[in-house]
Amino acid sequence: MRDREQNGSYIRKATDCFTGVTSMNKVQFEQMRPGELEAIVAEKPLAWMPLGTLEWHGRHLPVGLDAIKAHDICVRAARAGGGAVLPPTYFSPWGMSFPWTFKYSALSFTQYINGTFRNLHKYGFRAVILITGHYPEMQVALLMALAESFMATHNMSVAAVPEFAFCGDIDYFGDHAAKWETSFMKALRPDLVGEDNLADLHDDNWLDLFRKGVRGENPAKHASTELGDEVIELFVRNCVELADALLGPDGKDAARRLHREAASSFFSHYANKVKDVIKRNAGL
Ligand SMILES: [Zn+2]
Repeated sequence: MRDREQNGSYIRKATDCFTGVTSMNKVQFEQMRPGELEAIVAEKPLAWMPLGTLEWHGRHLPVGLDAIKAHDICVRAARAGGGAVLPPTYFSPWGMSFPWTFKYSALSFTQYINGTFRNLHKYGFRAVILITGHYPEMQVALLMALAESFMATHNMSVAAVPEFAFCGDIDYFGDHAAKWETSFMKALRPDLVGEDNLADLHDDNWLDLFRKGVRGENPAKHASTELGDEVIELFVRNCVELADALLGPDGKDAARRLHREAASSFFSHYANKVKDVIKRNAGL
C-alpha cells in the first residue's frame, strides 16, 4: 500500500512538471529518466515487450533478426500510439538446429516473462503488448497461457502474440528467413541484409530452401522493401487500435479475443503447412 501511495505521488509530481516533449518521441524504456516513465504511466500506462532470439536465418540475414524486427516495429507502434518499449530479449527455449542458434531452459524463460509482467504491474503499467518475433508453436502457446494466467489475478491487460496476428489482411502468417522476414529487414535494416548471399538463393524447391534454413517463399525472388513497408504499416495501425482497447473498460476481453483469433489462425495455418509437407513427401 505504501508503495502504491508513493508511486501515486511520484506520478502526480511527474505530470505536474512534465513538459510533454518526449512522451511521443522517446519511447525506449531503457533510455527514459524516472520523470519520463512516471509521465507515461500517468498518461497512458502501456508497455511494449518485444521478444526474439539468436537463431540461424539463412546466410543472408542476421541471427538476431527476430528481436530486431519485434523491437523496431514496437518502437514504430509506440511512436504512433504511445507507451514505453522494453529492450528486446534474445533468448528462447526453442530454435532451429542450425549453427549459431542459442537455446535456454523453458523454466528460465517462463520466470523472465512472469517477472517482467510483475515488475510492469508493480510500477503502474496497466496494459502490455508482448510481440514475439520468434514463434515456434510451443513458444506461442506458452506466452498466451502466461498472459491469460497473469490477467486472471492482476488488474493489467496482457496481449501476447506474434507480430503476424495483426497482419492477416495481407495473408502474412509468419515465415522464417523467407519472403516476409527478408522484406521486414529490407525495410527496417537494409544494412544487415547480405545481398550477395541472397543472390545465391536461386532454388525454388522447398526442400533445398528448407536445408538452407529458409522456410517459406524464396526471398531472392519475392522479398522487397515495399512489401516490408506495407506489412509494418498494417502492424502499426492494428496494434495502435489494440493498445487503446486494452486500456479501456473491456481491455482483458480484447486481449482474450486476440489470443483466440491468433491461436486459431496460427495453428490452422501451421496444420496446413504440415499437410503440404506430407503431400510433397508422398509425391501427391
Ligand atoms: Zn525469424
